[in-house]
Amino acid sequence: VAKILYDEVPRDADPMGPKNKLVVASGVLTGTFVGAGSKCGFGAISPATNSHADSSVGGHIGPELKFAGYDLIIFDDISPEPVFLFIEDDKVELRSAKHLWGKGSIDTEKQLKEELGEDFEIATIGPAGENGVVFACITHDFGRNAGRCGVGAVMGSKKIKAIAIKGTKSFPIYDLKSLTKQTEAIIQRTKPHPNMAPWQKYGTALFVGWSNDQASFPTRNFQSSYYDQWQTIDGERLVEECRVIDKACFGCWMNCGKYSRAKTRHGDVYIEGPEYETIALIGGSCAMTSIHDVTFANYLCDNLGMDTESGGSVVAFAMECYEKGIITKDDLDGHELRWGNIDDFEFIINKIAYQQGIGKVLAKGTKGAAEILGKDSIKFAMQQKGLESSGYESRWAPSMLLSFMTSDIGAHHNRSWSITVDLELGRDEIKGKAPVVVYLQHIRPIYDTLSICRLFWGELDVMPEEYVESLNYVTGWHTTEDELLKTSEKIWNLTRAHFLKRNGGPGRIHDIPPARYYEEPILDGPAKGKVLSLEKINAMLDEYYEARGWDKNGNPTEELLLDLGMKAVVDDLKEINLLGKPLPDGIPKVRGQKLKPKAM
Ligand code: SF4
Repeated sequence: VAKILYDEVPRDADPMGPKNKLVVASGVLTGTFVGAGSKCGFGAISPATNSHADSSVGGHIGPELKFAGYDLIIFDDISPEPVFLFIEDDKVELRSAKHLWGKGSIDTEKQLKEELGEDFEIATIGPAGENGVVFACITHDFGRNAGRCGVGAVMGSKKIKAIAIKGTKSFPIYDLKSLTKQTEAIIQRTKPHPNMAPWQKYGTALFVGWSNDQASFPTRNFQSSYYDQWQTIDGERLVEECRVIDKACFGCWMNCGKYSRAKTRHGDVYIEGPEYETIALIGGSCAMTSIHDVTFANYLCDNLGMDTESGGSVVAFAMECYEKGIITKDDLDGHELRWGNIDDFEFIINKIAYQQGIGKVLAKGTKGAAEILGKDSIKFAMQQKGLESSGYESRWAPSMLLSFMTSDIGAHHNRSWSITVDLELGRDEIKGKAPVVVYLQHIRPIYDTLSICRLFWGELDVMPEEYVESLNYVTGWHTTEDELLKTSEKIWNLTRAHFLKRNGGPGRIHDIPPARYYEEPILDGPAKGKVLSLEKINAMLDEYYEARGWDKNGNPTEELLLDLGMKAVVDDLKEINLLGKPLPDGIPKVRGQKLKPKAM
C-alpha cells in the first residue's frame, strides 16, 4: 500500500481530489486459519495529515475479499454520482447508492444486508465521510472501524458509499499439513493462557483501570492523566450494564469484541464497543460518568461515520475551548459544551458530521480547528502531524510520547505501544528508550502488513518467529524475521520520505509535540506536577534519529536510503532539495546547538 501511494499519487494531489487513491488491501495471511488472520487495510493520502495513511479493520471483510479472488482494490478518480462497489466472486459492479447516501454507517450496513443477503460482508461510510470530515472512518460489522487518518473522508470524496463482498472461492496453501499442525498446537497452547479469560470477558476495556493506575489515562483533554470517576466507565461497568454478547473477528478464538446496548434518551441503541481507546478519549477525555453515555457516544460516532479516537479528542478539545471562552454559546446556537454532558456531545458531534456552524471548523480536526480558532488553542490540540493522539497521556511516559511524536501517520498507538518500556526503564528516564521505540515501529507494522491481529502476539505470546513459520507454510517462501524487519524498516523510511515530500522538511519540525507536553504540568493524580522540558524532548529525538540512522534534522540520509535499496527515493528527495535540509530559524534547536546537515 505504501509503495502504491508513493508511486502513484502525485505529490501535489489533493487528498480529497480525483488523483488521490483509496487502496483496500488484504494481507498474505488474511483468510487463512493462522490465528486472527482477519484484517483488511485501507490506505490513502490522509486529509488530516496530508501524507501516507493506513488504517485497518478486523471482522470478516478482508477474508471475504480473498475468498472472492482478490488481494486488493484500488479506487481512483471520483464517481459522478454516489455508488457502492458490489463484488460477488467474478461479478464486479459499481451500483447506484443514491438511496443510501445520507444514511448512517450502521443503518447502511443493515439495509445492504437486507437487500443483498446476510452473507455479504459490508464496509460503509456515514454522513461524516460524505461531508469530508477529516477524521471520518470506514465501518464494518456493526461497529468495527478502519478509524484513523480520515480514510472514510477519502472514500466519501470519491462518492463510494459502501463496498459489499461475497466470496465463495478458496485459495491454495503451500504446506497445508504443517500449517494445520502448527495452528492446532498454538490453539491448544493459548487457550489456557492466563490473559485469555480476562480478554474474553472485558476485551480492551480491561485496560481502563490499569491505564488510570499508571497515570496515563487522558482526562479532560489531557489536562490530567488520572480520572477519579474511572470506575463509572471501566470494563466491569461495560460487562455488567451494557454487554449483550461477545464477538470475534474471522479466525479468532479470543473474541474480545463486546456487542453492547446503551440506554439513551432516544431509547436503546446497539453497537460493538466501546473499546479502551474509545473509553479513554470519549470517557476520560470528555469526562463522562456513565458507561451508557460512552457507549451511546460510540454509537453516534460510528453511525455518523467518525473515528471515536479523533472524534472524542475533537469534542474534548472543543469542551476545553468552551471552558476557556474560545468557543462561546453564540458559536453553539445557544447550546453549551460541558464536560461529561452526553446531550452536549450529541449536539456537537452532529454539527461536525454535517459541517454546520462551529462544526465546520471542528471537522478539520484539532490541528485544523486550532489554526482557525487561534488564542493559543494549538497548545492543547492533542495531535501529532494532524492526527489526534491515542488514549495515553504521556508526560510521565516519555517513550510513549516519543512513539506518538515520531509515528509516520501521526499519533497512533498501533505503530509503537511503548508505555511498558517506560515502566521497565523508569518513568522519568529518557535515555535508552529510542532504540526500543524504533524496534517496535518495525515489528508492529509487520502484523498490519501480514494483516493479522497483533493481540495474539501482545497478549497470548504467539511469537514473531511463529508467524514467520506460518508465512512460509502459506507461501512456500523461506523468509526470516530479519528479512521482515528489514522490509518494515524500508516501509518506514518510505512513508517518512513521503511525509517530507508532501509537507516539506526538515523532519524534526513535524516531530515536536503540542506545547501542553512541555509547558503544563499534569494537574493531579499520581503524576501531578510531571512535565517534560523541550530540551528533554529534543534529546529523545536526537537519540531516536541516531538509532534510525537519520541526520540530526530528522531526515533519512542518502547512505541509509541507498543501503535499503531506495535509490528512487534519494533522487526524489534530491530533486526537491529535501535531503539534509537544515532546520529553519525559529524552530526549537537541540540543546541550543546549531544543527548542520550530515555530510552526504
Ligand atoms: Fe478481533 Fe479481538 Fe480477535 Fe483481535 S483478538 S481478531 S480484535 S476479536
